[in-house]
Amino acid sequence: MTSDPVSGRIADTIRAGIRAQQAYPVPHATGFIKLDAMESPYALPAAVRAEVAAAVAAAPLNRYPEGDLSALAQQVRQAFGVPEAAGLLFGNGSDELIHLVIQACCEPGDVVLSPWPSFVYFDIAARLSHARFVGVPLTADLRLDLPAMLAAIAEHRPKVVFLALPNNPTGGLWRASDVQAILDAAPGLVVLDEAYQPFAGSTWMPRAAELPNAVVLRTVSKIGLAGLRFGYLAGHPAWTTQIDKVRPPYNLGVLVQAALRAVLPHKALLDEQAARLRADRQPLANALAELPGVQVYDSAANFLLARFSGKKDANAVHLELKTRNILVKNFSSAHPLLNGCLRISVGAPDENAALLAALQDILSP
Ligand code: PMP
Repeated sequence: MTSDPVSGRIADTIRAGIRAQQAYPVPHATGFIKLDAMESPYALPAAVRAEVAAAVAAAPLNRYPEGDLSALAQQVRQAFGVPEAAGLLFGNGSDELIHLVIQACCEPGDVVLSPWPSFVYFDIAARLSHARFVGVPLTADLRLDLPAMLAAIAEHRPKVVFLALPNNPTGGLWRASDVQAILDAAPGLVVLDEAYQPFAGSTWMPRAAELPNAVVLRTVSKIGLAGLRFGYLAGHPAWTTQIDKVRPPYNLGVLVQAALRAVLPHKALLDEQAARLRADRQPLANALAELPGVQVYDSAANFLLARFSGKKDANAVHLELKTRNILVKNFSSAHPLLNGCLRISVGAPDENAALLAALQDILSP
């Protein structure tokens, strides 16, 4: 229908690809056990929250954020082991930094490439920037297909390669030697996206300043601060200087900066919470794998990918969990390799227990 004055204008004005697309879905979650978005289930202790509140209260809301973020940068370097020699960029979540990398690198039609399935936003951000996204299928058992990656890199000569380490939504961590082979073959920039690194135990960060064609991307979203919206990117200063040119001015508000500066001295607490989730991951995987018709993939992240091929399919299980106020993420129709798959965040012990009890009930013969 293009008869009314607005829809006609929309059809003539908004890009066709945008009109055809849905906004990124964020489900209503109040009152749910929330195991769909890889957040930490653990809140900050009251004393730390009081410090955050005081810092936020003192933030000068009438002024734009300071241009010189070196004090915050120093704190971030120390808390997260970013080498002194690396350049550092901050983003409103690492989502924003994914955009900035693509905007800085890609002319319309240039290729952005990633193993696939992986983080859906690599594809979305590439298309929004008029780049062409190429997803290189994982193997049938959801491992990195290195020969296919090398062949695709040779064929498409991507400007940007994204590697999520560990991968979302599968949870696997690609071998360092495979990542190195991709670094050696890639003609442009490789983004080593370590969103789930706190649960994996290995990192490329110490080499961030030396890698000639890679940057390391991180977020605080998975370690208890998803609400803050803060991500950081580290790499050779020559790379970060270029990418910084496309960053919107003042992209990090004073409230985020104030809250972060108050929380970072308590980084050990966040590490403890991450360690708890890491310890709870394997027992949850084992319990899920004991359910009838459920296969669980190895995960180095704070979530598990499970394939349901028992008496109820993944869509039914997803829906029945929802009616019991438990949210998980349904990937069943997202990609053929994920047929029957649900992704489940590792929650607090009582949440994991509630999930298992519900699944036992749903899947019982
Ligand atoms: N990278 C990966 C691999 C992710 O899974 C996510 C979140 N789902 C992000 C980046 C973005 O995280 P944020 O914007 O919260 O920093």
